[in-house]
Amino acid sequence: MSNYSTASSHLTARSSCRGVPTVCWCGGEITTFTSKTKDNPYRRFYRCVMGVKEKTEDHLFQWVDEALLEEIRMVELEHNRLIEEVKDLKKSVMDNMEFQNVMQIKVKEEIKASIEKELIGAKEKMQNLGREMVKSTMTKVGVVVVVVGTVAWLCGKLI
Ligand SMILES: [Zn+2]
Repeated sequence: MSNYSTASSHLTARSSCRGVPTVCWCGGEITTFTSKTKDNPYRRFYRCVMGVKEKTEDHLFQWVDEALLEEIRMVELEHNRLIEEVKDLKKSVMDNMEFQNVMQIKVKEEIKASIEKELIGAKEKMQNLGREMVKSTMTKVGVVVVVVGTVAWLCGKLI
């Protein structure tokens, strides 16, 4: 801070930066000074160091209190924006979770239906196989009975 005392109010028009400035539009470093004018006694302001050295007004000038107020408003806006973003994110996560739950239930039902279908198919195959085995066994028994009967008949004839 120095005692630079020529703070001119018309320079504020050029200070288009928002909030607390960090550099001048010329790229020069910013520092704070205290006004000693009658209109703004002891009021602090930001000023470009290059502007002070060159004694030209074509560099950044901004009142500290105005910059801080603007900075607070910007932070407040950002805070509100973040709150909205978090709300949106929360809603998105909840919607996604709901969708996941619906999909999970759907997939479970599909798997269950598929397993039941496979089980019914396997049961039918087993039943058919059982019938085939019974049929085959009956045929064999029939053949054996005929053969035994024939043999017995032949033996009866021979004796
Ligand atoms: Zn500058």
